[in-house]
Amino acid sequence: MVNEWVYCPRLAYLEWVEGAWADSGDTAEGRRVHARVDKASGALPAADDISEEDRLKTRAVTLGSERLGIIAKIDLLETEDGSVTPVDYKKGRRPHVEKGAYEPERVQVCAQALILEDNGYAVAGGALWYTAARERVPVVLDEDLRARTLTAISELRLAAAAARRPPPLDASPKCVRCSLAGLCLPDETNFFRKSAVPRPLNPSDEPALPLYVQTPGARVRKDGETLVIETEDDKVTAPLIGISQLVLCGPVSVTTPTLHELMRRDIVVTWASTGGWVMGHTVGTGTKNVDLRTAQYRASFDDRRCLNIARGLVAAKIRNCRTMLRRNWKGDADGARKTDALARLKRLAERAP
Ligand code: SF4
Repeated sequence: MVNEWVYCPRLAYLEWVEGAWADSGDTAEGRRVHARVDKASGALPAADDISEEDRLKTRAVTLGSERLGIIAKIDLLETEDGSVTPVDYKKGRRPHVEKGAYEPERVQVCAQALILEDNGYAVAGGALWYTAARERVPVVLDEDLRARTLTAISELRLAAAAARRPPPLDASPKCVRCSLAGLCLPDETNFFRKSAVPRPLNPSDEPALPLYVQTPGARVRKDGETLVIETEDDKVTAPLIGISQLVLCGPVSVTTPTLHELMRRDIVVTWASTGGWVMGHTVGTGTKNVDLRTAQYRASFDDRRCLNIARGLVAAKIRNCRTMLRRNWKGDADGARKTDALARLKRLAERAP
């Protein structure tokens, strides 16, 4: 998350402090790249047990530092000549920029190195591995990078303690690709802060669709990033990234590893009769925030709170329509109809809660 703070403080805050998350093509591709490196392999010896002769590769190492107040999952840790090198995997190709990589990525590797040093390891340097080009970029852990990383860590922790969202970036091209743009509303926020005119905002095109399996006797299993559906005489595949829900009608079976993967990805599995009557759902645990879960459960018994939440949802939908309308209006030149429509939506939103 420290790298995200360097990329955009508001993004780091939304994800890390507020627990917001939205998938995009970029995040899905990043997850695919990490699917292999996230599998732990090899054991990392304690710092004191590493000898000059050791030549080790350890994957998916999780370490923390109390001094820094952060933990890191290191994709690959190479041990050689008595010291270690953290290697972080990135999708795509290396950028041709000064120092070989963007600052957030170098900061991420540096944060891993600082954690390793706090755990007693000698760190030779860091590296980034770009999977598309299969290219390795060394990360030099110089004083500037160390200072930048320490500053980012303390800024992030301070922002979390203060519980204050950082302001959005200003007319940044990063926002166009940001999966949380719809939640962050950078241009609207800046409009009210500095009267900057919002750019058009397009609702994201939902690429994932429900997958129905209706053939009696069909078996569903996972193969890498795809689901394989097999019957006696047929076999079809569907990429996991394109599935929003799996609906199994009648005598259809699914393997346990597939169920685990679907739950991990928050893809709901719906069990239905052959005739399509819904019998139940299998869902992942979702958020791991226990306080949030407890509060939700308690609220579910309170009719007044339930009604308020429902009204809040309706009001939010109306406000969302206002945002889309304000950004994308292509009607009359003087905007009189737009102003009128926005005013009516505002009144409706105020009546809802
Ligand atoms: S939309 Fe822009 S300002 Fe908002 S979180 Fe994303 S990158 Fe940051």
